[in-house]
Amino acid sequence: MTQATLFTDVRIFDGSGAAPFAGEVRVEGDRITGVARAGTALPREGANVIHGRGRTLMPGMVEAHAHLTWPSNVDRVLRTMKLPLEEHMLVSAHNARLTLDHGFTSAYSAGSLGERIEVALRDMIDAGFLPGPRLKASALEKGMENVMGVPEGHDSDHERDLAGLVRFVHRVKGLGCDTLKLLLSSDEGFAPGGSQQLLYSEEEAQAIGQAAREAGIWLACHAQAAEAVKRACRAGFRVIYHCCYADNEALDMLEARRDEVFVAPAPGLLYARIHEAADFGIGPAEAEKMGAYSGLELMAQVIPEMRRRGIRVLPGGDYGFPYNPIGRNARDLQLFVELFGYTPTDALVAATKLGGELMAMDLGQVREGYLADLLLVDGDPTQDVRLLQDLSRIQAVMKGGLFHRAPA
Ligand SMILES: [Zn+2]
Repeated sequence: MTQATLFTDVRIFDGSGAAPFAGEVRVEGDRITGVARAGTALPREGANVIHGRGRTLMPGMVEAHAHLTWPSNVDRVLRTMKLPLEEHMLVSAHNARLTLDHGFTSAYSAGSLGERIEVALRDMIDAGFLPGPRLKASALEKGMENVMGVPEGHDSDHERDLAGLVRFVHRVKGLGCDTLKLLLSSDEGFAPGGSQQLLYSEEEAQAIGQAAREAGIWLACHAQAAEAVKRACRAGFRVIYHCCYADNEALDMLEARRDEVFVAPAPGLLYARIHEAADFGIGPAEAEKMGAYSGLELMAQVIPEMRRRGIRVLPGGDYGFPYNPIGRNARDLQLFVELFGYTPTDALVAATKLGGELMAMDLGQVREGYLADLLLVDGDPTQDVRLLQDLSRIQAVMKGGLFHRAPA
């Protein structure tokens, strides 16, 4: 008999942006099979009945710019990005479990520190042997090492001619990755002025785009300079990260592709460098040098404009640094509200419904037929998204109809 769960006496935030409503939700197997408003009872047969006592039932969140291999998390700070492979695998598995603990039931990778770590991790999670979010896996990011501060390890094969770039795309697909990440520009965090340094020519970006369409793999990129964003749009990149310097033409191009493209700016890293990194040697002068202040100021202009144009902007990103550890990812929702003018509901929709669209799965909504990735939250996050940063408030985490953390 199929495993069934019935949530009753819950306030349902369904991810669509509609106001929460009192009701019930039934789950059978890995799917939601019924959503009813108060007054209508769903069948109890064979179900484990969970009494919500007015708590909020909402979709699991999606981390849109995940780095599960970045070592630091809220349990343990590791002041390095380089670990022996054996430790790295285990640290990444720990990070996956923590990400799920904190209410993120899906993660879309923005690059890995190992070629097959995420592929192996994704497969172990999907098989049910390790706890973690649904994962769209990636391999090592490819940039141009030692150009405007791009660190070593950001070019796995050093193939730079067009044929080599095409081989690279097919090789990453062959590793079993869902997505691959390129640094189309460098970054102020690597070297002052780096954000304006383009690392791939138009011709190279086009060749990569064509190869990715042939191989059947999604493209993601780090893009700061306006021209990097435009290059990504023209080459058919699906996810574009950061985009601080997007100008009007870049915004027009994103808007024209708004049904196929996603943006994840990752404000959390810049915020952490300004406010929470002093113990890690990053004071105000260093944060300034790394472009944290200017980056957040630019985002505060460009992200509201993207939202106005209907471009899908998602929270999350670049957690895993010692001063920006994995487990704090939900802070991005607060930053969307405080810095970008999102309402709490808008920020939640971005983390859930839009996240489901990013994952290209029936996810991110409490809706009949959708996968049962659900959180039971003490309080109303549509009033205050900061609740989601408090682990004690996330009282149950369900993924695919099974409790990762059952309510007490
Ligand atoms: Zn990143």
